[in-house]
Amino acid sequence: MKIRLQDLTKQYRHTTAVNNLNLEITSGEFLVVLGSSGSGKSTTLNMLAGLEAPTSGYIFFNEHIVNQTPPGKRDIALVFQSYALYPHMKVYDNIAFPLKIRKEKDIHQKVIETAGMLGLSALLQKYPKELSGGEKQRVALARALVRKPQAFLMDEPLSNLDAPLRLSARGELKRLQRKSNITTIYVTHDQTEALTLGDRIVIMDKGNLQQIGTPEEIYLRPGNVFVAGFIGTPPMNMIHVEPCGDRSFFSGETRFEFPVPLPVKTNCIFGIRPEKLTIAPANTPSAIPGMIEYIEYLGHELISHVKIAPNITWYVKSTAEQIRAGDLVGLKFSCDDIHWFDPITQVRIEF
Ligand code: ADP
Repeated sequence: MKIRLQDLTKQYRHTTAVNNLNLEITSGEFLVVLGSSGSGKSTTLNMLAGLEAPTSGYIFFNEHIVNQTPPGKRDIALVFQSYALYPHMKVYDNIAFPLKIRKEKDIHQKVIETAGMLGLSALLQKYPKELSGGEKQRVALARALVRKPQAFLMDEPLSNLDAPLRLSARGELKRLQRKSNITTIYVTHDQTEALTLGDRIVIMDKGNLQQIGTPEEIYLRPGNVFVAGFIGTPPMNMIHVEPCGDRSFFSGETRFEFPVPLPVKTNCIFGIRPEKLTIAPANTPSAIPGMIEYIEYLGHELISHVKIAPNITWYVKSTAEQIRAGDLVGLKFSCDDIHWFDPITQVRIEF
């Protein structure tokens, strides 16, 4: 099913939870809505589910406006963070329940098939309280999947799982969605989930859509300063740049030499990701001089905090290096890896 949101707005008394959202989700797409707490993700999902009425704007399922359609008639399945299983029913009956209330045919066969797909065949006679968190989550997914809805709406469905389980559940979910080819809208605040699961990602902030694109587009070409700072850990290093002459600029009080002629002639925001900086010896030509303040050891990689000016510290992500706190170094980068933004509109500038 194709879903389209047109000028969708939800206004609470003091808050615009969702502000004029326009979005088109193609049939079979896995769309992730990513944002921090309070950005309007759940409100968007609840309007799609019919649990909240929009203040204005339209929701289209295929070509039909569904604003007035009650939740039970929208042919969608919801999966929430809390599993909401019926505690007095065995796994089998939990999965069968949505079919029974719709008086569908071949219930037994459908339950067995879906349970098999999710590795639940051995658990059908257990009660929810006898299951682990991951198993409960799979039962909740099975219950959503069993009746082949037109769309899945998922609100942080994996956030109750511990880290290793979340990783395998993510893979499972993606596989299932591919196989069933059911349009899925998935809400999360976790950028790793968004980047790994989404065919496309919508980034929201304070009710406003910031960018929509594939994970690669969002990471490689963030559309504005907000997205640049939001995606990536640690976040992109960004500084204000006031060009002076061909190859140097001021940021605050500090003058920096630039390795090549500056592509910008007016004030800009310069951004470089921590993984695109390399640590070179001090006084390396065309490197930005700095001092290592602090090193975070993460096993497979290091995050160095490098002070390049009195008020500017950059993150550098690297694999093992012979460096210690207090060392003077140079930071090198390729000009292809720089991101430029307009300091007023905050929007990305392409050259
Ligand atoms: P998210 O899911 O991204 O955390 P929400 O959609 O839950 O964000 O909330 C978006 C904004 O709307 C928040 O500022 C929140 O406080 C507000 N909000 C959500 N639900 C209500 C409500 N029922 N009444 C008043 N304000 C609400």
